[in-house]
Amino acid sequence: MLKITKFGGSSCASAEQFRKVKAIIEADPARRFVVISAAGRKNKSDNKITDLLYLCRAHVDYHVDYRPVFEIIRGRFLEIKNELGLKTDIEADLDAFCERIPEMSVDELVSRGEYFTSRLMADFLGFPFADAADIVAMEFDGSFNFEKTGENLKRILEQHDRFVMPGFYGRTPDGAIKVMTRGGSDISGSILARCLKADLYENWTDVSGFLMADPRIVKDPRNIERITYAELRELSYMGASVLHEDAIFPIREYNIPIHVLNTNRPQDPGTLVLDKIKDEVNGPLVTGIAGKKGFLSIEIVKRNMSNMVGIVSGALQVLEKYGVSIEHLPSGIDGFNVVLHAKDVEHNLYEILGEIKEKIQPDSIRVTEPMAVIAIVGRNMNSRAGSSGKLFTALGNAGVNIRMISQGSSEIDIIVGVANQDFEKAVRALYQSFAQ
Ligand code: ASP
Repeated sequence: MLKITKFGGSSCASAEQFRKVKAIIEADPARRFVVISAAGRKNKSDNKITDLLYLCRAHVDYHVDYRPVFEIIRGRFLEIKNELGLKTDIEADLDAFCERIPEMSVDELVSRGEYFTSRLMADFLGFPFADAADIVAMEFDGSFNFEKTGENLKRILEQHDRFVMPGFYGRTPDGAIKVMTRGGSDISGSILARCLKADLYENWTDVSGFLMADPRIVKDPRNIERITYAELRELSYMGASVLHEDAIFPIREYNIPIHVLNTNRPQDPGTLVLDKIKDEVNGPLVTGIAGKKGFLSIEIVKRNMSNMVGIVSGALQVLEKYGVSIEHLPSGIDGFNVVLHAKDVEHNLYEILGEIKEKIQPDSIRVTEPMAVIAIVGRNMNSRAGSSGKLFTALGNAGVNIRMISQGSSEIDIIVGVANQDFEKAVRALYQSFAQ
């Protein structure tokens, strides 16, 4: 059994958190390859090391002394080192790093959060440290070269049967360090899982997996014990932010499960993310509910549109010209709605409407009030009747007016648009109705 074990920033935020990580690693001999994020916040008023590193950079750009910010970073690392009585000599490296900050690339600069946190963690666990720059091969466009990464790993495995690797960065063909998008250590764990053909990718964070709904809206929502990659992608896209949405791609075709677990409550079952979940006679109808505010819908009516060619594409061409991405496109016989992010059209909505009008000569064109979009996601919805009926009843009883409804092509989700101010009420009503 081989596990990749990744710990997020909150799991590495202090000496106390380091101790929890050690207990988790020592509890299972399969946990030999560890991926570490930069130390995160110790509490709500604290800062993430990565944010402080970006802040150093901003100081350099605006010609303000960055050293006071750097001293906070140094203090955080030394506090962990001293409290745990570690031997790794990071002081000299921190000094050298501090001097080089003005001339470093942004990517190299911010990658040092993961780098130093991992060196301390490797020392504390008694594991070798393996630099992600020597392992994760990235292309200039940010994509990954799995073949080269595999070869790099092979070389390292000739010497070590375990290691701690920093997440979030890799190296491009010219030798430069490149970081991934924020939260990218999740992707680093996934890359290792793929290239080492792991049996399981454990992702340890500060929540006990995915919840059926946002706990800021629904009180004590149920935990999701099992979810498919496809469902997770829908929920992540709609705002459920436990795992980086790109963490699924490297391992999806290899069918490696991801287990999301809580470093602070290792006894909790967490959420298991799988490619397929079989034999579910009584599986849940809905796996999760997620949503976002800030959309608007352009409602276009053109009578007898279904007998004409080029009406929808005409409108879409205008949106494409303005670089606006379309979220949903529900349509009827005499018209259709184009749902998009309000902020994508905040500067040129009226030009866009004017051009659409000119191009397809609609009978009417109207923009709705800002709207929220909510997705109810469930792999079992396509095999059972009644999901949309239940949804209409729940929202109707709660007095929520549905502005738009659309069903995803794979039938794992139903999307509804509601007025922004009805968002929380709608999520609660849907949860109440589907969480039974
Ligand atoms: N430290 C990086 C961030 O804060 C990457 C990560 O934590 O995954 O975004």
